[in-house]
Amino acid sequence: MIAERLSRLREFLSEKKADAVVVNKEVNLHYFSGFRGDDSLLLVSPDDALLVTDSRYTEQAAQQAPLFEIVEQKDGLFARAAECVKARGWKKLAFEGNAMLYDTFVRFGEQLDHNATLDVSVHLDRLREVKEAEEIARIRKACEIADAAFLDVVKFIRPGVSEREVAVRLETTMRSLGSERPAFTTIVASGERGSLPHGIATEKLIVSGEFVTMDFGAMYEGYHSDMTRTVCVGHASDAQRKLYGTVLDAQEFGVSLVKPGASGKDVDGLVRQRLADAGYGEYFGHGLGHSLGLEIHEEPRLSKKSDCEHLLPGMLVTVEPGVYLPGKGGIRIEDTVLVTENDGVPLTKSGKELMEL
Ligand code: ZN
Ligand code: ZN
Repeated sequence: MIAERLSRLREFLSEKKADAVVVNKEVNLHYFSGFRGDDSLLLVSPDDALLVTDSRYTEQAAQQAPLFEIVEQKDGLFARAAECVKARGWKKLAFEGNAMLYDTFVRFGEQLDHNATLDVSVHLDRLREVKEAEEIARIRKACEIADAAFLDVVKFIRPGVSEREVAVRLETTMRSLGSERPAFTTIVASGERGSLPHGIATEKLIVSGEFVTMDFGAMYEGYHSDMTRTVCVGHASDAQRKLYGTVLDAQEFGVSLVKPGASGKDVDGLVRQRLADAGYGEYFGHGLGHSLGLEIHEEPRLSKKSDCEHLLPGMLVTVEPGVYLPGKGGIRIEDTVLVTENDGVPLTKSGKELMEL
């Protein structure tokens, strides 16, 4: 697994015509080496794979990253890296332009031998877009944990319970089922607060007749899941039922569009048009979806600005349309969807018919 990732990284390096690449974004460090510590970096060239770390991690690094030569630093991570660069005579270095702090970039540049330069900015995140079977298995498990937490929480939600209590219940169940931590700050938005797409849980008490939107996820062995369900507490009015049906139709339409070859812009645009045709175009502001994996938000995106021309088997995307009516409330429904050889298969399995609790 790591050997294959390293060879992909080296192939990328030769495309960029760099002698070596400095990997310092934590999730990329984990991905390309297997090592799960922090405050470390990788230096990878066609012939070398170095992991620079400190004494807290040398033993762990040797166990978790057997394909890497472990280099211990005592006087500074990048100072030690600069010594390695010099010793190997590397001149042209690629670095993670979206992860290296500007101050680090300047200081590291000064520490390097005058022959060597940091001159190729790369975005290694793109090399993680297509997931391996082991990664998909972990994301699938994270989705199962979140599904189980949803099944539990709907028995708990009733008038008088606070949004925060709902979030705690979701998070506690996920933790007890093997989640390392919430995938992100749990969103529980009830009633009027439902119009806030990122309304994190507050002390507000849930009232009968309200919609409750819950957006949450688990993290399993480093991999995230993401799902949203909106339920009605008490009996739904005809207007509520109609609005829910509109969002559900858009969401299911979106899932049906996820397949190999589809473009991120098209999937987003078609769902957006569907909501516009139903009269809610102006009430859906955010992108339709995002990928996820070691991070909760990854490329490719399903959005107006997506640069993903073709979804590929092994990619994952969320499909999460919503309608947000300021001062009134909102509805969002979200599944994590796996792109397979032929279509898109939701890994989120919880039912989507309107629940009246
Ligand atoms: Zn979400
Ligand atoms: Zn999401």
